[in-house]
Amino acid sequence: ITPPALSVFESLESEVRSYCRGWPAVFDRAKGSHMYDEDGHTYLDFFSGAGALNYGHNNPVLKRALLDYLERDGVTHGLDMGTTAKRAFLESFQNAILRPRDLPYKVMFPGPTGTNAVEAALKLARKVKGREAIVSFTNAFHGMSLGALAVTGNSMKRAGAGIPLVHGTPMPFDNYFDGQIPDFLWFERLLEDQGSGLNQPAAVIVETIQGEGGINVARPEWLRALADLCHRRDMLLIVDDIQMGCGRTGAFFSFEEAGITPDIVTLSKSISGYGLPMSLALFKPELDVWEPGEHNGTFRGNNPAFVTATAALDTYWADGQMEKQTIARGEQVEQALRAIVEEHPGAGVSHRGRGLVWGLEFTEAAQAGEICKRAFDLGLLLETSGPQSEVVKLLPALTTTPEELDEGLRILARAVRET
Ligand code: PLP
Repeated sequence: ITPPALSVFESLESEVRSYCRGWPAVFDRAKGSHMYDEDGHTYLDFFSGAGALNYGHNNPVLKRALLDYLERDGVTHGLDMGTTAKRAFLESFQNAILRPRDLPYKVMFPGPTGTNAVEAALKLARKVKGREAIVSFTNAFHGMSLGALAVTGNSMKRAGAGIPLVHGTPMPFDNYFDGQIPDFLWFERLLEDQGSGLNQPAAVIVETIQGEGGINVARPEWLRALADLCHRRDMLLIVDDIQMGCGRTGAFFSFEEAGITPDIVTLSKSISGYGLPMSLALFKPELDVWEPGEHNGTFRGNNPAFVTATAALDTYWADGQMEKQTIARGEQVEQALRAIVEEHPGAGVSHRGRGLVWGLEFTEAAQAGEICKRAFDLGLLLETSGPQSEVVKLLPALTTTPEELDEGLRILARAVRET
């Protein structure tokens, strides 16, 4: 592929935009599961805006709803106030998501991005419990602001902020438990050793599948044991469902499979369904202790995002079909990845995931990066994740057709073979 005109990016833009630098293209259009660059190349997208596009690019139903709203001069600013768009979203969220699952949550709009939702969740937990420490996990990722970084288990990301991990108690994630179901007694001893009262953590924050951390899948039994630990030690359980929620793992919430009800849940990325900034913090009603104005911000609502989010909930989540479809397509991906692993015995390749989030791990980080580069040349967009970027991450849109999935998986198999 001839390198496109990247000069303005290279001369003007900060090097901080490292993500996606492996794709030397200038993207111009995107539709469904495809992106198109200025030079006329077509790419199958298995990255989905870092998980922000579960319903594909420019989903026609969502686009129609947005265009209709704009054409009737609906409110577009982001202040968190009563609007018809917000009311419609809350009603759909209650009818399609909360009520059928018998979930009691109150909803707040903490700001445009996932990080904002994590900050709100941490603030709320600390306020409710009157304690500061938060338990978080190895390889966790919760965002790039100072509070979210303090619970992010990635020293490279934390180093950029120049802060040590403060007020956080790190604990190993499920992938370090070697298949055993923990009783967490050792962790309780550790907490007891820290003294009582204010030294005890206010909450535990966890991803059910670590997305940026390398597609590490927590077993339902492990999550249930963790929920029990929270209950015994009077800690709130925060599930960060920013990447794994909105149907990515099959069920709307990724924790449904484990049958747990977290005290606080964060959502963002695909909640608007159209790639528009929007985030939610959900919490049990008894935790609604905010004073008016205690968590303010200009962009706490996003009316166009409420419109597309409502259309997504009404279209995909009113009848329970989405979950079945995602699980079926996930099985298709699993089979293809298993075939890739079997084709390279002894090469240290392994795969894991659930629903439509999968990782293919290599022993050499460079290999995963090279495979993504080769896949790009063959017309497939993939990114890496994991502490050493050793995992090729697959996040196709939930609306990707079985044929498109097959095509992408064939390209991936070829890229692995040729790298
Ligand atoms: N939490 C999780 C689990 C994430 O995967 C991410 C982003 O990848 C975030 C939080 C941060 O969200 P944002 O990048 O929208 O601030």
